Amino acid sequence: MKLNWSRRGFLGTLTAIAGSFFVPPRLLGAKPAQRESAASLTGFGQSGDPYQELGVATVINAEGTMTMLGGSLIRAEVEAVMAQAARHFVSIPGLEAAAGKRIAQMLKLPEGYSALVTSGAAGAIQSGLAGILTGDNESFIKQLPDLTGMKSEAADTPPVSHLWDYADMGYDLVTFSGGKVLRGPQCAGLLIGREDLVHFALLNNSPYEDTLGRGQKVGKEEIVGMIKALELYLNEDHDALAREWQQRLDTVSRQITKIPGVSTSFFTPDIANHVPHMQITWDAKISLTPQQVSQTLRAGQPSIVIGGGEGRPGLAMSSFMLQPGEEQIIADQLVKVLREHSA
Ligand SMILES: *Cc1c(COP(=O)(O)O)cnc(C)c1O
Repeated sequence: MKLNWSRRGFLGTLTAIAGSFFVPPRLLGAKPAQRESAASLTGFGQSGDPYQELGVATVINAEGTMTMLGGSLIRAEVEAVMAQAARHFVSIPGLEAAAGKRIAQMLKLPEGYSALVTSGAAGAIQSGLAGILTGDNESFIKQLPDLTGMKSEAADTPPVSHLWDYADMGYDLVTFSGGKVLRGPQCAGLLIGREDLVHFALLNNSPYEDTLGRGQKVGKEEIVGMIKALELYLNEDHDALAREWQQRLDTVSRQITKIPGVSTSFFTPDIANHVPHMQITWDAKISLTPQQVSQTLRAGQPSIVIGGGEGRPGLAMSSFMLQPGEEQIIADQLVKVLREHSA
């Protein structure tokens, strides 16, 4: 049985599990009544740029949503709701259940399906799989990763196939990363699926002690922030966004193709970062390898990250994580580097 929740709107666009653009840095906890505002911060963070204070350079991300670069940029509205969540104590299992119910409504999940906010997509896979193995059997839960006595194949090998078997049969469990194109909390993800399996997954996860997933802690802030991120994502005009991403690429293309020998073409990868990309190639008139261009941009000021060609010649850039105006910085830097090495 295939689930019938807005696949085009949610699963479809989410095959692009990735991406975003920058939001001006705002500080969590900036607005509670009895707390100091960001403006009155002294000490660390007073400059408004904690990275600079630490001496860690920020980069312009023209590659994609990569955990290594910090995933994506959280939406300001998500930050605001997370700050609200930070002001109170609450039962985490109770909050997870309520959030699951709300997310199920938002996604119009069929009866008997629910959702769980996890520490990420990888965390969702681990607790989802653990739940399949243990059910609500408390001694099984405590015993993992020892599979003795559980219904599994080959006790030495994690029976990952369980997950895919279920998925192939009709998506009993599906996971998403919150810190990619959803632009939610960076250390959050979603496990969506059969209510019983989702419940078993939570039993194998923090806040419960003595579970394999105790290290995959999910805070009240992430749980609440994930709901907001999902709400905003579902209400987004995805076509308009795709047009905006394409326009940014066109801006760069127009300027760099004025250099003799430079050409561009456009493609959208089928999976992973399923968004408009631009391939940039040049002929022998320019004495640089794609790797050299990429390294020069990375070492520049500001530092720009542009990936290899996704299996194609030349460079490949995406624009879906750029802040407004960054496409022009990239165009300027590319023109400079390519012209400097033109015959
Ligand atoms: C980031 C990513 C993951 C992992 O998600 P986490 O939330 O970081 O665990 C899995 N698949 C794809 C396609 C990703 O981009």
